[in-house]
Amino acid sequence: MANSICPGCKQPFDPDEGSYTEEGLICGDCQDQRVLDGTDEMSSAGDVVEGSFAGGFAAGFFGGCIGWLLVNLLAKGVETKKGARIGFFSGIAVGFVIRALSAL
Ligand SMILES: [Zn+2]
Repeated sequence: MANSICPGCKQPFDPDEGSYTEEGLICGDCQDQRVLDGTDEMSSAGDVVEGSFAGGFAAGFFGGCIGWLLVNLLAKGVETKKGARIGFFSGIAVGFVIRALSAL
């Protein structure tokens, strides 16, 4: 199989060991360097997952601390986690009000 020329380091490399990127196929060494630099798309911290505030809120509100924990373990969206936190405390507040009312 013919070697490809890496656009990153301009060196010929085995395409089987390369990685596809936005600039095309790059060699394994350049791919490793991108991962180390944090420029690789998969390891990029620049992409923030928004998530669903309402979904997180519902999980925290109705699921209590279990729902909140599950959201923090499973959800990737920052809005989902924020919703779960606020939903959790709202659930506690509503629980206090209900308890106070029922004690009257
Ligand atoms: Zn390269």
